[in-house]
Amino acid sequence: VSKPLSDLQIATSAKMKPITEIAEAANIPLEAIEPYGKYKAKINTNLIQGTPSGKVVLVTATSPTPAGEGKSTVTVGLADALKQLNQNVMVALREPSLGPVMGIKGGATGGGYAQVVPMEDINLHFTGDLHAITTANNALAAFIDNHIHQGNVLQIDPRRIIWKRALDMNDRALRKVVVGLGGPGQGIPREDGFDITVASEIMAVFCLATSLENLKERLGNIVIGYTYAKEPVFVRDLGVEGALTLLLKDAFQPNLVQTLEGTPAIIHGGPFANIAHGCNSIVATQTARKLADIVITEAGFGADLGAEKFMNIKARQGEFAPSAVIVVTTIRALKMHGGVAKSQLSEENVEAVQNGLPNLAKHVDTVRAFGVEPIVSLNRFITDTEEELAVVLNWAKSINLRIARTNVWEEGGKGGLELAREVLEVLDQPNNFSPIYEISDSIEQKITAIVQKVYGGIGVQFTDEAKKQMAQIESFGWDMLPVCMAKTQYSLSDQPKLLGRPIGFTITVREIIPKLGAGFLVCLTGDIMTMPGLPKTPAALRMDVDENGEAVGLF
Ligand code: ADP
Repeated sequence: VSKPLSDLQIATSAKMKPITEIAEAANIPLEAIEPYGKYKAKINTNLIQGTPSGKVVLVTATSPTPAGEGKSTVTVGLADALKQLNQNVMVALREPSLGPVMGIKGGATGGGYAQVVPMEDINLHFTGDLHAITTANNALAAFIDNHIHQGNVLQIDPRRIIWKRALDMNDRALRKVVVGLGGPGQGIPREDGFDITVASEIMAVFCLATSLENLKERLGNIVIGYTYAKEPVFVRDLGVEGALTLLLKDAFQPNLVQTLEGTPAIIHGGPFANIAHGCNSIVATQTARKLADIVITEAGFGADLGAEKFMNIKARQGEFAPSAVIVVTTIRALKMHGGVAKSQLSEENVEAVQNGLPNLAKHVDTVRAFGVEPIVSLNRFITDTEEELAVVLNWAKSINLRIARTNVWEEGGKGGLELAREVLEVLDQPNNFSPIYEISDSIEQKITAIVQKVYGGIGVQFTDEAKKQMAQIESFGWDMLPVCMAKTQYSLSDQPKLLGRPIGFTITVREIIPKLGAGFLVCLTGDIMTMPGLPKTPAALRMDVDENGEAVGLF
């Protein structure tokens, strides 16, 4: 058996169509297309007519393991399969962050024969959106420090600033820093810190804003900290929401690219699902819904994170509902949830697959808790055996669950036809979608609903710090917002090592941060951090540029 081609080799040998051709086929008027080179373009959404009526198919997964589940791969392959079945379909994905690209997880452009291209560009600097978001974030930080330096009319307490600087890289050394050192000419010294750009509130605002005006309004609503009298200070008090909107205006237009099979794909916005809300932009999803009958989109990590936030935050703010939800899983991931070490995953182990099923079962229950009937996509790896696959297929049959073997990594759209047919059947049926808490519920009630109905735990505990913050949030009347849980992706609990389907656990909330621009309250649980670190052997060590200037080792 010859070694399969790498994702990068497949992507770079693909024959791409000019982006104007992709736009034309997607019914995007050419005057709405602003090409960035030959194969990427920004879409001027003001020139896209129609109401957003396309049906949304959400792709989620079981709890991620180092084995990889393949959500992006299935998202792309499913769209290609639906196109092969003559459906008018579009993909709506998130933009990759350089943190995971250089770190451990890899890119976010799919894999094998189910990829979006040009994958190298998309995974590196793409059309510069992440840089624009980073710049807007740091411009705001500079405006805050300058305001204090120039006399501090607003009486901002430098010890109570909650706005942090940002960088699109995993860099643990920047989690806590001191700025303003060096004497009176260098500003007022204070403690500061960095978040990764994808956890920045600017990213969340960017993804949840419904128009440029709404973007500006949300930016103005961001709370940057508190005064000496402990009153909140908003971006609008600093008067810089216009400048921040200006920095973001081009980035705010969604990006058009294509899959290997020429299906149009919009890639826009990229918050992580463990420390942010984990979904691509509302503008991108709504634009795709104007252009296509079916929009396949993905939310990050397992259904406990990205899908929960898709349903409770994005769908609510965007005023749409998912018409179908796909839960991607793999034999390898189930084996890890069933207790097998990463090094042993290529060996057949029917019992471990069986033991891993409860994790899948929990995510299936979660989707059902939102009133939507899930479809399981069993993303096939070449190492899977028929006996192992049979365990999952038989179990699904026994609980009346839709399931489809998916082989898009090896075969492209053709390998997703079975899944596509299941999706079309589900799209024909109504569902009872509804978020699992009311906005008017108390903060504790909202978190408890998520812990019990989504994580499968008993309840929530708050540290003294979190209790203080909760009281403050209530006193300002900000409790009428959805919550955005920041939790480890590896476990349904807040303990990364508890795999499978843990029971009897409680979740500890250690901090609650109001994000009034985004319109949610971030709840930090366990040890989760908003600035990740790099692993001992980062993916960067495999990367290079060859003598022809071509990328090497980008997966
Ligand atoms: P996710 O979106 O869940 O993070 P991706 O779709 O990005 O997962 O896939 C992660 C990695 O796993 C990619 O490098 C991809 O090529 C690989 N992969 C996905 N599905 C398969 C498969 N069926 N066989 C082999 N490799 C796969």
